[in-house]
Amino acid sequence: MSRNKTVKEALFRAKKELKESGAGEYKLDAELFMMSAADMSKTSVLTNGDKLLTEKEEELFNSMVLKRKKGVPTQYILGRCEFMGYEFFVNKSVLIPRPDTEVLVETVLKTSEKENFKSIMDMCTGSGCIAVSLALNGIKSVTACDISQSALKTAVKNAEYNNILDKICFIQGDLFQNVDKSLKFDAVVSNPPYIPTGEINGLMREVRDNEPLAALDGGMDGLDFYRRITEDSLEYLADGGYLFFEIGCNQGEDLKKIMTHFGFDGIKIVKDYAGLDRVVFGFKRRGTDVI
Ligand code: GLN
Repeated sequence: MSRNKTVKEALFRAKKELKESGAGEYKLDAELFMMSAADMSKTSVLTNGDKLLTEKEEELFNSMVLKRKKGVPTQYILGRCEFMGYEFFVNKSVLIPRPDTEVLVETVLKTSEKENFKSIMDMCTGSGCIAVSLALNGIKSVTACDISQSALKTAVKNAEYNNILDKICFIQGDLFQNVDKSLKFDAVVSNPPYIPTGEINGLMREVRDNEPLAALDGGMDGLDFYRRITEDSLEYLADGGYLFFEIGCNQGEDLKKIMTHFGFDGIKIVKDYAGLDRVVFGFKRRGTDVI
């Protein structure tokens, strides 16, 4: 029987295999899997190379490497992901939070410095990363809505884990379907599905084969959810309330037209750190309440 492997030996083999399989961040991935499988800190993974792995640890580590070689995103394998400096649980029922979406949260928080938002609706919450980050940054009342029951379960778990459950109310439903009509929000924020159906096949295999299609597919032109949410939000926004969306980088002008059509004013497009259009927001013109 061969002896158990050391951390160093297992890492060496994993990095080589991951590199050969084309995983971009193969070194970091291997180290993160080792931290998780052997319950070690980053420092100890890098300095305790001679530590012998138990059979269980080695088995777990190998299974993580194998999944990564098959194209499963690192965050799903670890079951965790960082967003806005907080930690979130992720699984295949929710989209992995993207750094791009931090621009959306930051735009909402910056606007709130002036407008003092007290209540915000996060429509299509998924993992809850937006709702939880807003609540952790001082928004008093956040409502998080999603059509997927399993996504909501993850969002609740994330609110609990980040000790902010008491500030967030969760609603399951197809957009505003189950949201009480008497509720009025100072702002609605959403990162809805926005990839045109015809472009889904051309996405990176990691995204296409692993992330939930329902969180990506925005219909024929990718704008279905923008049209529906913009129209429906009129009924739920306070007078002068704000609507914020994350967008695909070439959807800014189309969304601006949709929001203008439904009576939004002061529409602005915000770029992400790559210099691409990423967020569109505006406010509901006063006196446009739906009767
Ligand atoms: N930004 C995501 C991607 O490019 C899509 C997110 C979405 O559809 N809301 O994969």
